[in-house]
Amino acid sequence: MNYEIVIGLETHVELGTESKIFCSCGGHSAAKEPNDCVCPACCGMPGMLPVMNKRVVELAVTAGLMLNCDISRYSTFDKKNYYYPDLPCSYQITQLAHPICKNGLVTLKTSEGTRDIRINRIHMEEDAGKLVHRGRYSYVDFNRTSVPLIEIVTMPDFRSAEEVIAYLTKLKTMFRSGGISECEEGAMRCDVNISVRPMGSEEYGVRTEVKNMSSFESIEKAINYEVQRHIDAIEYETEELVQETRRYDDATGKTFAMRDKETADDYRYFPDPNLMPIIIDDEWLEKIKAEKPVALDDKVIEYQEAGISQKEIDVIISDKKLGKLLDETIALGCAAKEAAAWILTDYMGVLRKSGKGTDSESLSAEKLASIIKMVEKSEINRGAGKKVLIAVVEEGADPKDYVEKHGLNKKFDADALKAAVDKAISENQKAVAEYKGGKEKALQAIFGACMKELRGAVNPADIRAMLLEKLK
Ligand code: ADP
Ligand code: MG
Ligand code: ZN
Repeated sequence: MNYEIVIGLETHVELGTESKIFCSCGGHSAAKEPNDCVCPACCGMPGMLPVMNKRVVELAVTAGLMLNCDISRYSTFDKKNYYYPDLPCSYQITQLAHPICKNGLVTLKTSEGTRDIRINRIHMEEDAGKLVHRGRYSYVDFNRTSVPLIEIVTMPDFRSAEEVIAYLTKLKTMFRSGGISECEEGAMRCDVNISVRPMGSEEYGVRTEVKNMSSFESIEKAINYEVQRHIDAIEYETEELVQETRRYDDATGKTFAMRDKETADDYRYFPDPNLMPIIIDDEWLEKIKAEKPVALDDKVIEYQEAGISQKEIDVIISDKKLGKLLDETIALGCAAKEAAAWILTDYMGVLRKSGKGTDSESLSAEKLASIIKMVEKSEINRGAGKKVLIAVVEEGADPKDYVEKHGLNKKFDADALKAAVDKAISENQKAVAEYKGGKEKALQAIFGACMKELRGAVNPADIRAMLLEKLK
């Protein structure tokens, strides 16, 4: 029989805030040593009270807007109770009854066309700590406790591992470009709910949940393994399928049962009396909307229409700094395609060579636009433009001053060009004779000598024109 795969995802994303969700300790990535970002509140000392981090709400709402969700004007926190050594309060503060966002939609591009994935909800919650096992001892690191998370829960709308990966890739790109999260290794973790059903059936099969995976490769392998296990169980009655939580083991490529599926009752959820409901009024929502980056899809379309290639677009939208530089350079009057080429080829190349990252802020849109415009107006040639760019990035040079100081604009010094051409002709008499004798190729040697003399300060086309004129 043919089976249809049914998958729903719960994705946890650590938000890139400066502080934790309910205390003022440094947020995700602030910690250097174990337990150096903890305070009485986030390591669960008795009597400590949570104080809501406003920025978490704003980032969660921004994520919801990007995923086309309804934003809840009233949302509340609940306590989810369970005992585990990495959870100092023995409860996690999360949202059950009134999550911050509901009913979203993400459209994916896959090899089979476009697919709509419905988002059930997005809620805010705190992360738990980490257990570290060494020999006979186990240690607990509370740096991660109370780091803010959003959990994005989809409807069971995925029909293949490919769609799942396309979705996660899109989330990652969106969240990076929107400043929600850098989504580094481990900062985006997924629970994958999987079931299969006979093709054409309306009913869902028994689902299993593979917990806590962060590498796309593992997610894909776990899905493929789990789907086959389900099909075998149904087709050959190899085992009885039960709803349960499983763990994927990278070493063996298999999944293993962890525990029976817990239900909401097991957690004894109840409203957290220490946190007031979050009310989002029109004014606040409008402010968040105004600050939200242009929806990713709109941005992609805008770039596509400007003639930027898809490969370039992918790089630009996954890096907020590059996207901002490009947009600002365009706003200063440069052609989008040209600006993208300068940023992705020249600027990135210089950064790579000098070991700097895109966040080094070593190139402002003003300086880049100034270089692009000088080239466009033929005040300098492109090669010279690149030299200027290097000087800007590496030494913080001012483009116009640099051009002036190094005589890169001496193109307008027609005498210099004429002198260089004359010199090249007189020093390459053999090549001149050959050229005049009909050997076109000989021109290259004379041309090369001119280029060398002028050190790239003059547009090659101008040199060639002058050279041909003289040789006539
Ligand atoms: P819980 O809170 O118990 O984990 P939910 O009903 O919130 O359960 O669903 C969790 C996830 O499981 C959602 O992403 C949902 O889409 C997915 N899901 C629900 N039923 C199925 C199913 N039969 N097959 C695959 N995924 C499912
Ligand atoms: Mg779940
Ligand atoms: Zn703290």
